[in-house]
Amino acid sequence: MRQRVVIVGGGIVGLAHAWMAAERGWEVILCERQPTARGASIRNFGMIWPIGQPPGRPLELALASRERWLHFGRESGFPVADCGSAHLAHHDDEWRVLEEFADRAPHLGYDCTLVDAAAARARVPAANPVGLRGALLSRTEAGVDPPAAIAALTRWLADVHGVEVRAPAAVTAVEAGPVVVVAGERLACDRVLVCTGSDFAELFPAAFAASGLVPCKLQMLSTPPQPGGFRIGPHVASGLTLRHYAAFRVCAALPALVARIAAATPELDRLGIHVMASQPADGRVILGDSHEYGGAIGPFDSTAIDELILRELRHVITLPDWSIERRWHGIYAKHPTEPVVFREPLPGVVVCTGTGGSGMTLAFGIAAEHWSRYP
Ligand SMILES: Cc1cc2nc3c(=O)[nH]c(=O)nc-3n(C[C@H](O)[C@H](O)[C@H](O)COP(=O)(O)OP(=O)(O)OC[C@H]3O[C@@H](n4cnc5c(N)ncnc54)[C@H](O)[C@@H]3O)c2cc1C
Repeated sequence: MRQRVVIVGGGIVGLAHAWMAAERGWEVILCERQPTARGASIRNFGMIWPIGQPPGRPLELALASRERWLHFGRESGFPVADCGSAHLAHHDDEWRVLEEFADRAPHLGYDCTLVDAAAARARVPAANPVGLRGALLSRTEAGVDPPAAIAALTRWLADVHGVEVRAPAAVTAVEAGPVVVVAGERLACDRVLVCTGSDFAELFPAAFAASGLVPCKLQMLSTPPQPGGFRIGPHVASGLTLRHYAAFRVCAALPALVARIAAATPELDRLGIHVMASQPADGRVILGDSHEYGGAIGPFDSTAIDELILRELRHVITLPDWSIERRWHGIYAKHPTEPVVFREPLPGVVVCTGTGGSGMTLAFGIAAEHWSRYP
């Protein structure tokens, strides 16, 4: 008889576990409380972003995930862009970090090249030429339109891998056994994966309180489709981004950049602002973002934060149409040191969350690593 796993939460982490379990022949029931997933997985940039991961296990998980995304695109026909990325340098200190990173990158497992301003402009039509020093071009990033990708992946897992998707289906309790209580039904199973993102606290408040996880709120914006079919090029990141992702901490030149930004624009540090842009196939440009943690998170969005994000983006890129069509925020759970948090609050019940700003990048690799332990 097949073993049965119930997965709680239909975001990218739940879907990744559903895929890997189904591949191993498990019967998979996935419960999502909304009609379609509404959490962080549909609110992000859609960047599959190995270049931001520190060398070692996180980078390996990201590269494995990237291969899975491309596989899903090939098998399903869903557009997964093999677009790469560009970190644009508009200050000398940013350029020094990129030079140093490019020198060390091949030995650390990254696939990237440093180019001058002319080559950067040729590759990145959106690059702001004013003050542009050059760019770090990386080949390993991929891109999806998040809400469409999550919907397509859910359908594909149901149609091709036989995953039973229940939505809307709120899980109200997970008990020893294990037993999952969903819409009044008690579902007995061999294993439960709780992948409820930043809502982990609702089902297991004590385990959450002891987990060290902190919620983080990010503000995001997007333009309408750009006129004339304008494409920004690969995903774009800025000099500000170099202080955000752990990959660049290997650079001795980084502290000078961090100190300059702290002194010149402390508001960016206070609000955790670094700027990036991605462009799904329909031509919209997704722009962001800010980071507010824990008790600083309020229910309302701030236009002042949006204006700071746009101010910084205008230094980095030029767009034919800067009008804003959508504004939103997303919340993820993040651990100060672990790239993902696994906890087992009851025998056979595994919580998997805390992928922070990298869930789209890491989820498939994390789930593959986890399920490789089971027959
Ligand atoms: C603004 C923003 C930008 C980001 N950009 C990127 C990016 O470009 N690249 C990247 O790699 N990562 C990015 N991230 C991070 C990434 O989006 C997250 O790490 C990832 O989506 C977390 O996935 P998840 O499945 O754990 O959580 P979620 O996507 O939040 O999914 C949890 C799901 O569980 C459901 N749920 C909760 N409780 C229950 C219950 N009791 N019963 C049933 N269902 C339940 C919820 O409805 C939800 O759909 C970004 C995040 C944000 C917020």
